[in-house]
Amino acid sequence: MKSILSFCLTTLFCVSCFAQNNDAQTLVGAMLGATPIEEDLQELCDEIGGRVTGSKTNEQAVEWAVQKFTQAGVKVDKMPFKMPSLWLEKSTTATVSGATDFTPQIVSKFYSPPNTYTGTLLNGGMGTAEDFERLGAAAKGAFVLVETEICLDIGGLFAEYTAASKTEDLAREAGVQGLIFMASRPNKLLYSFVSKKVYDNEIPQLVMAREDAKRCLRNLQENKSLQITINIDADTGGEYTSHNVIGEIRGSEKPDEVVIIGSHLDSWALGTGANDNGCNVSMMIDIARQIQRTGIRPKRTIRFALWNGEEQGYFGSWAYTEKCGKKLDKHIMAMSVDIGSGAIFGFFTNGRKELMSVLDEVLQPVQIFGDYKHVDAAIVGTDNFDFMMEGVPNLVANHLSTNYGRTYHSASDTYDKVDLKSLKINSAIIAAVTLGFANLPDEKITWKRHNRDQVQALVETQDLEFSMRMFNVWKAWAEGKRGRK
Ligand SMILES: [Zn+2]
Repeated sequence: MKSILSFCLTTLFCVSCFAQNNDAQTLVGAMLGATPIEEDLQELCDEIGGRVTGSKTNEQAVEWAVQKFTQAGVKVDKMPFKMPSLWLEKSTTATVSGATDFTPQIVSKFYSPPNTYTGTLLNGGMGTAEDFERLGAAAKGAFVLVETEICLDIGGLFAEYTAASKTEDLAREAGVQGLIFMASRPNKLLYSFVSKKVYDNEIPQLVMAREDAKRCLRNLQENKSLQITINIDADTGGEYTSHNVIGEIRGSEKPDEVVIIGSHLDSWALGTGANDNGCNVSMMIDIARQIQRTGIRPKRTIRFALWNGEEQGYFGSWAYTEKCGKKLDKHIMAMSVDIGSGAIFGFFTNGRKELMSVLDEVLQPVQIFGDYKHVDAAIVGTDNFDFMMEGVPNLVANHLSTNYGRTYHSASDTYDKVDLKSLKINSAIIAAVTLGFANLPDEKITWKRHNRDQVQALVETQDLEFSMRMFNVWKAWAEGKRGRK
């Protein structure tokens, strides 16, 4: 009797396992087959274009995304949330005069106060403490031009953020009128950046084309004197409403348990936000569409989040976590896909090592595409952040750099830089992981949401304070206004 029962249970279990494996295979096949992922991306980038949060094109993108989910037959919600204040660059121009007269190409960093400024231009070296010591009192009231290392990949980006963050503190202490960074990428490429204080930034901070900055520096190194006049024009305003777009496929067995995957819909506007992050927005839509189209019924609810306000400090995903409150206890996994279109070769597990073995299991249907390696580093810098700080198990997809570092936030982040072949495979990988987590047997979910002490321990063991300060999210956490209470 016992053996018959156990035989029946085993058989039942295997049948359900088999169905779920089958579903994963079906979904992977659908993702790899003909889908409109490229057409969607082209519409988003080439028709709508750059989509800074608060801009008209951003709202167009929201409507576009709502329509895409609706057309796919996926339930969709336009979730409003507040952004602190409006700042949209209209134009930034500069004129250098003195030993040489020319008009360098330049852009403002986010939230530089619009105005016309004139001052002496000084050689700020690499913007280190020694450099500011050398400048001494001369830095006060001047524009300081800082050299940067060339940036080719993601490592270069983090090095650039880190160096800029330190320089910004030193520049404020020295009482500069403004800070100008040499662009880290050559061929007159310009790109957008937030400053360390984001919405509290009070000084003009700019990025000057690498070649133009070098021309200035060569003059300054020969002790020739230069003046600079800068004109920053921007649309500004107070608090305003932005929207996340959240598609949902309700779970068939455990609808209150949620797997959420997301990419940010907003971008900067020098380029068209293709690698950052249009490609993964079209991926989210396509995964939802293919689950719906194939009739697959995930056990748990899957949400497809297109976040807004990410570039200013993950405001959309923060608002979502705030809105969910206690319901985050039932979010078994939150994933962010935000590192471009290079091939995915693993995941960051953000202090939740226990997800690694499950990842290996759910990646089985896409094993052919990679020898996946996971890293238990905690990522600060994208929409996993508030889930991580709320103690929700979270993942960030790790990609080959491909064009990501070179085009990051820049005028050249356009459709033609997207690795379309990898994007397609990546969509199959993310689909397999998402469905895998949504269908996991209960006994495989060995983790729980962390409490504040556990999150605090993560902050300490992974030494997150510097990065959190660098992205202006430290204070709110430390004061208990953001993250797990
Ligand atoms: Zn991004």
